[in-house]
Amino acid sequence: MAAASTHWRPTERALAVAYCFECGEPLVTGVPPGEDRKRQYCPACGYVHYLNPRILVSCIVHDGERVLWVRRGQDPQKNLWAMPAGFMENDETLQQAAVRELEEETGLRIPATDLDLVVLSSLAFINEVYVVFEARHEAVELQPVVPETLEVRFLAEAEAPWDELAYPYTEPYMRRCYQRLRSGEKEMLLGAFSHNIQQLKNV
Ligand SMILES: [Zn+2]
Repeated sequence: MAAASTHWRPTERALAVAYCFECGEPLVTGVPPGEDRKRQYCPACGYVHYLNPRILVSCIVHDGERVLWVRRGQDPQKNLWAMPAGFMENDETLQQAAVRELEEETGLRIPATDLDLVVLSSLAFINEVYVVFEARHEAVELQPVVPETLEVRFLAEAEAPWDELAYPYTEPYMRRCYQRLRSGEKEMLLGAFSHNIQQLKNV
């Protein structure tokens, strides 16, 4: 099985474009007139190619002390374990995005109204906003329904794949989550995940 990767997705580069959407002239990178940060822009017509954070939604499904994990079947982080998660589509709500991604990756269907918001966080190092919901569901046997997922399992903290996390920076939060599920307490965290530390506070 692959080791946990420390390679982060070069979001800015992936979203860069070569030519102006408005007039077709080549874009340049620099501080556009009247702005205060570097962006891609078109000197010919003034078009500015704004890059803004994407919204990543995730759903922690638990049955008491066990949490639903998926082993990823595609890159990035193929073969490693994570919570079911994905990016919001246009024309859907946060909760709809979370239950859609959950069903796509695990086959498990949960009503959007069953979700509780548990984390609202910045992932500034990859230009994403991370919204995490939580829902309780009986720990049923699940089989992967798409090639993007290799395994779907409800796992207790002692069984969780800590050495094979797709996103190792989430480990402290996931351990905190297990602890909270054992205690039965509720919490909603606001803050930021980063490579090495987390700054999340209870709100
Ligand atoms: Zn242009």
